[in-house]
Amino acid sequence: MDRYDVVVLGAGAAGMMCAAEAGKRGRSVLVIDHAAKPGEKIRISGGGRCNFTNLHAAPANYISQNPSFCISALRRYTQADFIALVERYRIAYHEKTLGQLFCDGSSKQIVDLLLAEMRQAQAELRLSTSVRSVERTSEGFALQLSQGAVQCRSLVVATGGKSIPKMGATGFGYDLAEQFGLKVVETRPALVPLTLEPTMLARLAPLAGVAVDAVAACGRTRFSEALLFTHRGLSGPAILQISSYWREGGEIELSLLPGVDLFEELRAARAQNGRQALQTALAAFLPKRLAQLVAETEKGPAHLADYSDKRLRAVADAVNRWRFKPAGSEGYRTAEVTLGGVDTRELDSRTMEAKAVPGLYFIGEVVDVTGWLGGYNFQWAWSSGWCAGQAV
Ligand code: FAD
Repeated sequence: MDRYDVVVLGAGAAGMMCAAEAGKRGRSVLVIDHAAKPGEKIRISGGGRCNFTNLHAAPANYISQNPSFCISALRRYTQADFIALVERYRIAYHEKTLGQLFCDGSSKQIVDLLLAEMRQAQAELRLSTSVRSVERTSEGFALQLSQGAVQCRSLVVATGGKSIPKMGATGFGYDLAEQFGLKVVETRPALVPLTLEPTMLARLAPLAGVAVDAVAACGRTRFSEALLFTHRGLSGPAILQISSYWREGGEIELSLLPGVDLFEELRAARAQNGRQALQTALAAFLPKRLAQLVAETEKGPAHLADYSDKRLRAVADAVNRWRFKPAGSEGYRTAEVTLGGVDTRELDSRTMEAKAVPGLYFIGEVVDVTGWLGGYNFQWAWSSGWCAGQAV
C-alpha cells in the first residue's frame, strides 16, 4: 500500500494550492481527481480568462453562516500574495472592472502555474482516479481508490461544490463530512440566473438580449452592475450577485435606470414637448425595446401632455422600483458556485482542520464560505488552500 503524508482529494484551485504548499514544506503529497484533467473549473472561468482574484477582496464579500470564519485565512494569504505569484510566472493580467483581475491571455496559464508549483514541490497527481472509501486508522486515513489503496496522515478534502455537474462536480465532500459526523449547512445554487413565471416571461420575451446597468436589491443587500434579459429570465452580474441572497418566495427589486429621477425627467419632458409619446420620452434614457415595453404595459394616453403626475410616478416606479418574485433559479446546471457546505463551526479557521477529526481538512468551495462574483471565490480557494498547506 502507498503511504503519503498528505492526500488531497480534488485537483481544483484549492487542492492544487494546498498540495504545492504542503510539498514545499517537505511533505509527501498525492493529489487525486476523478476528472481526466486538473483545474477544469479554472479553465472555463472568467469566460476563459480566469478572474483569479479581486483587488478589494475582504471578509464582507463572503457569505457564510459564520461571517468571521474567513477573516484569518484571507489575512494570512491575501490577494497581494496571489498577484505576486502570478507576476513571478510572468502572466500578464488586467483589471476589468471593480477590482476584478483577469489574465490577458488564457485561464490555462493559471492551471499551468499551479501544476508547475506542484511539480517543484514534488506533489504527485493522479487523474481519472475515484475514491471508493475513506476510513480512519490509528495513523491517519486509509483510502480505497479505483486504482489500489493509499494511506495518509492528513486528508484534505478539496472536491468543490455541486455546480456544473456536467463537469464532474459531486456532493462527495459533503458526504465525507457527514461520514465523519461533521455538520453541513444546507447547500443551494448561487451566482445563478433567475427564472420568471411563464406569463411574465412571455411579456418580457421581446427584451431577450437587452442589457442595462441596474441595481438589484434583495432585503438590504444591493448590487449595482449590468443586468441582462434572456429568453429564460434574468441574468448578468447584478442578477447573479443578488441570486446568492434571494430565497424562494422572496421579492427582488430592480432599478433599471439607477441614479436618474425618472419622474422628474418625464415631467420635464412633458413640459418641453407634451405632444411626444411616452415611449419616445423613455427612449431618451432606456434601450428602445425596453422603453417600448414599459410604454405598452402602461397603456396610457397617446401624448405625454395627457399624463397626470400620478401616472408619470407610476411609470417611473415601474422602471426604477420594479418588484417581482422570481419563479426560481436555473440551478446547479449553470450556477457558478454552491452556497452552504461544511459548517465552519466544525473547522479551525487558521488551518481548516476539522476540530473533532484531527488530520481531516476541508478547503475551497466545499466549505460554507461563498464569495461574490468577481474573483472572490478563487481568492477563497487560494487562501484556504494555502492555510491548510501550512498545517498538514
Ligand atoms: P473546484 O475548482 O471545483 O475543484 C474541485 C475538484 O474536485 C475538481 O477538479 C473535481 O473534478 C474534483 N472532484 C469532485 N468530486 C470528486 C470526487 N468524488 N473524487 C475525486 N475528485 C473529485 N470564481 C472566481 O473567483 N472567478 C471566476 O472567474 C470564476 N468563474 C467561474 C466560471 C464558472 C462557469 C464556474 C462554474 C465557476 C466560476 N468560479 C469563478 C467559481 C470557481 O470556479 C470555484 O469557486 C472554484 O473553482 C472552487 O475551487 P475548489 O478547488 O474548491 O473546487
